[in-house]
Amino acid sequence: MIKTDVLVIGAGPVGIFVVQQLGLIGLKAEVVDNLDKIGGQCIELYPDKPIYDIPAVPECTGESLTKNLLEQIKAFKTNFHLNERVQEISREQNNWKIQTSGKKIFLAPNIIIAAGVGSFEPRKFPIKEAEKFENKGVFYSIKDKTYFKNKKICIFGGGDSALDWAIELSKLAEVTLVHRRNEFRGAEHSATIVKKFEKEGKLKIKTPYQINSIEGNNEIKGITIKDEEGKVETITTDCILGFFGLIMKLGPIADWGLNLDKKTIPVNTENFQTNKEGIFAIGDICTYPGKLKLILSGFHEGALAARACFKLARPNEKYRFEFTTTSKTLQERLGVKKK
Ligand SMILES: Cc1cc2nc3c(=O)[nH]c(=O)nc-3n(C[C@H](O)[C@H](O)[C@H](O)COP(=O)(O)OP(=O)(O)OC[C@H]3O[C@@H](n4cnc5c(N)ncnc54)[C@H](O)[C@@H]3O)c2cc1C
Repeated sequence: MIKTDVLVIGAGPVGIFVVQQLGLIGLKAEVVDNLDKIGGQCIELYPDKPIYDIPAVPECTGESLTKNLLEQIKAFKTNFHLNERVQEISREQNNWKIQTSGKKIFLAPNIIIAAGVGSFEPRKFPIKEAEKFENKGVFYSIKDKTYFKNKKICIFGGGDSALDWAIELSKLAEVTLVHRRNEFRGAEHSATIVKKFEKEGKLKIKTPYQINSIEGNNEIKGITIKDEEGKVETITTDCILGFFGLIMKLGPIADWGLNLDKKTIPVNTENFQTNKEGIFAIGDICTYPGKLKLILSGFHEGALAARACFKLARPNEKYRFEFTTTSKTLQERLGVKKK
């Protein structure tokens, strides 16, 4: 069980920045994210695209913003628990008990939900058998590529992930790339390499085909694919990998008894608390009259929510407002001045 002052759900830009606001006032935070990387939408959806409306930063990319936000919280040595989805929350005396999909348990008087548009989840194969084999032959991400060494693999999809993994895995496995269209959506450069590899016999390409069935009882023996006219073909394979992009789901947050407005959580704008004491919502996931889904709004929301967390985490202490420019305590916390 991990005890902390605040559990932050979501490592998007707003979840990262609130760690800084909490750290400044002396509160410890742990951050959980469903994805395998930090940065939320900025990293998952537009790492290379320019952003022009972060205050005092004329231009940055999703990736550089994330990097700088992490630099700004370096002093707090925050633990990020990635690949973990927050599943359940329950009340335990004055604390919230939070459980993740990886069975980690946190105990904290405060939860800050900075879950954006919900958790990003892979779009899955549209056939029923795929569920039975999930993580036992059917995969939607790769944690360790050596698992696939010398195996027969079918990769489905036409975007960047499908192409990049087809290229990478063809170096150590027997790869067939299957896509429902003749044209690939991914980077032209990657599509060219894939086609070159096919000519050189380094991988096979099957287009326009879709999955039709998975054969096998306890393990995958093969699959059938079908083309647009319904012609079916059998392929012997050990595993199949689906890269069909991500969908965003509110997921388990919908079951925590919080007031919801469509896929967002109403909050009061005084401290960004939800209808439950000690549970705050900031960033894209929260709603209130006039809400703007911008990163800069999330930063402000985090600053106020952090101060409200102080009351529950340190009930016997008084919060003192201070500026980073002039406060020795805050500068020490930030590690910018020697004690
Ligand atoms: C293409 C594009 C361009 C944009 N350009 C701009 C721009 O120029 N300026 C601007 O201000 N904004 C822009 N935005 C919007 C901006 O990206 C969002 O406002 C911002 O990302 C919201 O940050 P967040 O931290 O609230 O949520 P997110 O960035 O969505 O991060 C939320 C995180 O929470 C995680 N999560 C959700 N549920 C769970 C759970 N149950 N357990 C664990 N983890 C969970 C998710 O995996 C995700 O990583 C753009 C958005 C897009 C898509």
